Amino acid sequence: MTERFGVIGVCGANGNLIARILKERGYEVMGTDLSSEDECRFAHSLDGYDIELYYGETPDEFFKKADYVVPPASLSKDSAVFKKINNVYELDDVINDFRPDKPVFGITGTNGKTTCTTLLKKIAYDNAIRPCEHNLEKMQGNAEYIPILQSRLNGDVAILEVGTFGVPGTVKRTVVNSCIESGLITNITPDHIGDLGSFMDYAHVKAEFIEGLKGKKIIVNGQDPTIIGLLKELEFNGEIITFGVDWTFEKVNPKECVCGSEISVKEIISGSGYYFCKNCGLTTPQVDYIATNVDLANRKFDLHTPNEKLEVEMSIDGLHNVYNVTGVIIAAHEFMKLPFDKILESVKSFTGVEGRMEKVAEINGREIYVDYAHNPAGVQTVLDQFKKLYGDFTTVITVSSESGYDGDLAIFEKALEFSRYVVPASAASQRIAQEKLLEEPSLSEKIIFDSVDDFVKNGTLGASYDEVKEGLTKALNTDSKLIVAIGEAATKFKSCVDAI
Ligand SMILES: [Zn+2]
Repeated sequence: MTERFGVIGVCGANGNLIARILKERGYEVMGTDLSSEDECRFAHSLDGYDIELYYGETPDEFFKKADYVVPPASLSKDSAVFKKINNVYELDDVINDFRPDKPVFGITGTNGKTTCTTLLKKIAYDNAIRPCEHNLEKMQGNAEYIPILQSRLNGDVAILEVGTFGVPGTVKRTVVNSCIESGLITNITPDHIGDLGSFMDYAHVKAEFIEGLKGKKIIVNGQDPTIIGLLKELEFNGEIITFGVDWTFEKVNPKECVCGSEISVKEIISGSGYYFCKNCGLTTPQVDYIATNVDLANRKFDLHTPNEKLEVEMSIDGLHNVYNVTGVIIAAHEFMKLPFDKILESVKSFTGVEGRMEKVAEINGREIYVDYAHNPAGVQTVLDQFKKLYGDFTTVITVSSESGYDGDLAIFEKALEFSRYVVPASAASQRIAQEKLLEEPSLSEKIIFDSVDDFVKNGTLGASYDEVKEGLTKALNTDSKLIVAIGEAATKFKSCVDAI
């Protein structure tokens, strides 16, 4: 007789994924959750699975019928519910007993990983390769155990976004437990630093991705000194494929080298470009794949592979996306063994990820874009692209930086640098605006500010629906033809443009 599992907490990400893994592997599965069916966030992910569900109160028969019960990690062993369980089967048992039975590819980096993951999956689908999907509505794929469990669901391949909220150990755990066999790193620039102390501490969390792939294959942005420095420091012994973009650098900015010295990076995008460390000798390598003749207005470039020249056409904007697309083309070719012509067809029809340089409205001939950018490097990269493509614009800041005050200040300064007008819409940016105006009253011509709101930030969400709407309304009162709203709140509440 087939064994029957009872999973508690199927309205949470872990419980939901575990129930589906067990069912797909041929077991009988029952699920339960304290939520009602209407409140169950991920109820639809269970559609079509033939899992017996008990919402609200869990009946005693659930415990009687189950050969094994999977409790949520948060359930106390002293609780009444836990005491009803005869055979406990835990998250770790799922991870150990059910291995991913397919090739697994991981994507990490500070910025660009969602775009890269989405594009690589699109290329897979276009070529009848089915990636496993977590199907958890509005859930970021890199949180908690999602990538680890996702790789155990049905599919021909697993393409996983590996994030970090800056906690040491999390990336290594994901790489090892997801059985990632090759991966892509887009860039490593300052983010989440508040939690960790320094840029190098953060970089070393990202470096766990490299450590986890030792002896395997890794595709990296060769123009990022942090990535190349870490590969050297960790004595990475697998296969390295590097890529870069041939572009005249525009600024020189400092970046800490892994050796502790400071490098002057001739930047192409934030944190990446041409570099030479006078202390340890780290320098931009001759990359294996180089994008040349980049034509941003017509969204095309030439990509020189080790063997041929490809003509790449995109439907997305920006130099940072030339890096993203290049990394993904290599990944699709190396990991999924697809021919370049098939890959380029898919790239051409990729219109981007929602909330990334996304046009959300046109009001009285003025265009409104939103972008998820929420750290200084991300903000710089995106605003720089808008500047190159469109010239003048007004930036609405809805960010509350994860790096706290320093992050908020750096983001505000980037906005001032690139935009004609700045509208602070998050309480964090309004506090910075207030300070800036006290220091330099003449900035009142540029900063559109009246008072500091009392919004209390919630995780990375820096502003409310009303504040985003108010910020956009103020921006529409300027004479800019283009408005760019940055931050999670701007993308989350983008529908507010309908109410303006
Ligand atoms: Zn160095």
